Amino acid sequence: MRYSKMLIPTVKEVPSDAETTSHKLMIRAGLIRRVASGTYTYLPLGFRCLQKVINIVRQEMNKSGAQEILMPSVQPIELWQKTGRDIDYGETMATFKDRHGRVNVLAPTAEEVVTTTAANEINSYKQLPINIYQISFKFRDEFRPRFGVIRSREFIMKDAYSFHTDPQSLDETYKVMYDTYCSIFKRCGLDYVIVEAESGEMGGSGSHQFTIPCESGEDVIVYTEDGSYAANIEKADVDPLPPTVDPLHPTVILSEAKNLPPAEDIHTPNVGSIEAVCDFLKTKPNQMVKTLIYASEGKTIAVLIRGDHDVNDEKLTQAVTGAHIELADVETIEKVSSAKVGFAGPVGLAENVDKILIDNAVAAMPVWITGANKTDYHTKNVVPGRDFSLEDAQIMDLRNAVEGDTHDGKKLLFKNGIEVGQVFKLGTKYTQKLGAKFLNPEGKEQVCLMGCYGIGINRIIASAIEAGNDKNGIIFPISIAPFEVLITSVNQDDEKVANVAEDIYKQLLEKGIEVLLDDRILRGGVKFKDADLIGIPVRITVGKRSVAEGNVEIKLRSESESTKATIETAAEKTAEMVTSLKEKLKP
Ligand code: ATP
Ligand code: MG
Repeated sequence: MRYSKMLIPTVKEVPSDAETTSHKLMIRAGLIRRVASGTYTYLPLGFRCLQKVINIVRQEMNKSGAQEILMPSVQPIELWQKTGRDIDYGETMATFKDRHGRVNVLAPTAEEVVTTTAANEINSYKQLPINIYQISFKFRDEFRPRFGVIRSREFIMKDAYSFHTDPQSLDETYKVMYDTYCSIFKRCGLDYVIVEAESGEMGGSGSHQFTIPCESGEDVIVYTEDGSYAANIEKADVDPLPPTVDPLHPTVILSEAKNLPPAEDIHTPNVGSIEAVCDFLKTKPNQMVKTLIYASEGKTIAVLIRGDHDVNDEKLTQAVTGAHIELADVETIEKVSSAKVGFAGPVGLAENVDKILIDNAVAAMPVWITGANKTDYHTKNVVPGRDFSLEDAQIMDLRNAVEGDTHDGKKLLFKNGIEVGQVFKLGTKYTQKLGAKFLNPEGKEQVCLMGCYGIGINRIIASAIEAGNDKNGIIFPISIAPFEVLITSVNQDDEKVANVAEDIYKQLLEKGIEVLLDDRILRGGVKFKDADLIGIPVRITVGKRSVAEGNVEIKLRSESESTKATIETAAEKTAEMVTSLKEKLKP
């Protein structure tokens, strides 16, 4: 391709909403343009990257034995009602009413449709296992679309779904997909980390996330230094804290707490947040217990969590055996606690709720400061077991890991990352509800087991840019770069230079190399700036002076030094460099 004929609108300025490096560079390098919040047009360079990633994903999926299909983006809401995910997805799911008044979903994913297909088309164990996938648009009305194509409202996902007769078969395909993902991300030039993730299914046999560590990543990876454990924060199990000595009453240990002065209500007017209450009571958040009221399937559940900790939604979901659970509405909270929101506490609460769940860290505290179930009041010297019965409460891990926590006695470390893909064992979560069954060899009907495997195509490009860039622009891995080689003809108005550039261009095309010829009649400085910005891995510089000496310069985008090659050997030498760069990305 010739630069002069291509739409590559590079720009200096970046929009103010571009927070991350990849977002800024994708705009500046003319890969994408924003259409509206969370929606983008891919311009020619960006689209080439997208196609390359799609090709890699498709090749590896086909190699793994998966079969490609295409499902509709517009799906009837009734399918989603069957699994209850119309509610679980909440407002993230975009819907519209058609002219006949039917409600349609703009697919955020496709478990419901694919499982219905399986229910209709599979009837015998002889058809199993099967793994089917598609590469298609997904829509999610994200609360806060951001970071360019990393969290957009419309994106391209590769989603695969496998169906099985038994757990061993599911394990096998899961392993094949896990290995396929390793190959895909390696080929895309990404340094990925695999972490354990929540499978969202009770007794669920597992899930892994493929994550690219980078500062702007929204996921938090929790790991031990020796690498023996890595999980995302939603999943990371923390060791229970040892029973503590109360720092406010240093002489008090758990067993002696019963002898403390009686619980006492304190007037705390106009103090809303934990911090404000702490200031008022001259205490610390880790001495406070938050009492949060949740609603799940018509039941009211109180969750007790230390003031400085956060409830982990996934662990909470597991605690209610995978059911939908969300914070109760104001009316319920006020009814249950007999107070305004913000003053719920455990004392006397048991009669008003169906269940009390206590986090391990709360259970390790000898005395608590809690809400008083009375507007504008808190209670201090609350001693569990003395001031309220622990008998009906369940004590478990319910919170996010924090600095200082351990797993199996090893210190947990934290870093940010971008989730590019995830693999799940779903068991019968969808197949049961949607009736995906088969006849076993004995002619008995059984429910299929299922796995699902997703990759965010657009996120791969953004993550590669997050990981590969310098102050001048993008440094693309060769496998997903829009072109493999860029020829910068510095003095295009000089006939000799133009001819040499043209000649090398043709030789490279003949060798099957993807090459962009910068044939614009522009100052060298401008062309070099664009070259660095768009990040094509190999650059050949053809200039008047070196051509006069019979040479051109070849440089890798990732390196600062260039090497000389004679005009005659330039194409050959460049081809070798391309091969060697590709070699490094072989799985
Ligand atoms: P997240 O937790 O980041 O919202 P998710 O876990 O909901 O993502 P999945 O349902 O597992 O995402 O979707 C599969 C893949 O699709 C993800 O691994 C990710 O790469 C990609 N993806 C998900 N949401 C978006 C989005 N809003 N924009 C771009 N890619 C996305
Ligand atoms: Mg995910």
